[in-house]
Amino acid sequence: MERFYFDNAGTTRVFDEAVKEMNRIYTDDYYNPSALYSHDIKSELESKREYIASRLGLKSSEIFFTSGATEANNWALRSGIKNKNGNIVVSEGEHSSVYETAVELKSKGIEVRFAPLDRDGSLNLDKLQQLLDENTTLVSVICCSNETGAINDLTKIREIISERSKRAVFHSDCVQAFNKISFDSLAPDMMSFSAHKLGGPKGIGLLTVKKGLKIKPLIAGGGQESNMRSGTENTAGIIGFASAISTFGKAIRPDLIKKMRAKVKEALLNTDGVLVNEGAECSDFILSASIIGIKSEILQHLLYDDGYVIGLGSACSAKTGKNRVLKAMGLSDAEIAGSIRISFGAQNTLSQAEGLAESLKKNIKILKDKLR
Ligand code: PMP
Repeated sequence: MERFYFDNAGTTRVFDEAVKEMNRIYTDDYYNPSALYSHDIKSELESKREYIASRLGLKSSEIFFTSGATEANNWALRSGIKNKNGNIVVSEGEHSSVYETAVELKSKGIEVRFAPLDRDGSLNLDKLQQLLDENTTLVSVICCSNETGAINDLTKIREIISERSKRAVFHSDCVQAFNKISFDSLAPDMMSFSAHKLGGPKGIGLLTVKKGLKIKPLIAGGGQESNMRSGTENTAGIIGFASAISTFGKAIRPDLIKKMRAKVKEALLNTDGVLVNEGAECSDFILSASIIGIKSEILQHLLYDDGYVIGLGSACSAKTGKNRVLKAMGLSDAEIAGSIRISFGAQNTLSQAEGLAESLKKNIKILKDKLR
């Protein structure tokens, strides 16, 4: 049975172009870039670093490749930008790789302040302002929520931080933002990215660190990544990442993504007892909804049997069985139990989205009728 995949915020199919480039690295251009004879691969790698940096308005010396955004987020939070008397501020809307790191830092005696969300999933900026003070050393706010698509305004957050906490460093998890929404990539001091959310391979990501900012190296060893993150470079991953960034820009039709989201949203809103979890500023790539009274796993199953793959929220929250972010937005337990996440990507078509909309209507009705 053919299946249509609508969980692109979870991960994406790797573009053929990226696979081709990566295969070349695996089979032909596989030299270790640190070897003296590896001029070609070393210079290819540096040109990809430069390309990715330029796409973000940064210099190549400000890019540090990691095994993914989980590592980049951990690194940013553990980067040494904290002190005994300082505090760090983290939003409640963070991906678990930021949130759980903050919880761990707190258990080790660092003062961590959690900034609350509004009902639409965005950060409450008044509350953020109140939590910041002159002792705040690090602030981490996600740019676009992986759970709901809610967008936080990085320019505004930068302004608030600069006003209240002159020495604070601003980190933003921009995984769901890159290539998908427009955002101010010059506002944060550090940003995290991951390749597999935009048609690149899993296991490669990066942390950006603004020039002049000193952070603790992550891994000691052979001195790769300018002595900041040792380990033989994931050359195929880096080249696949750069290739995917370029292909994504050409393959994605923003108007089609918008249309598909609107189609599915309309079907959901025409159904009784359905709530769309969004605010004014929301990514077109993600649609979060709560179908009150049903268990979303069962709906996910029925949709799967019809040929549609959807998500229930981040894979990380799926594992714990709770949705911390929806809870922080103030959703009730019933709203959380019935929550689904539909996320669009380069392979989706309007007719697939129409099919998904029909399947949603049909299966929600089946489940609701059973409850009567
Ligand atoms: N941050 C966000 C917002 C994400 O969506 C994800 C992926 N679920 C991550 C971080 C973790 O990225 P990776 O899978 O590359 O570790």
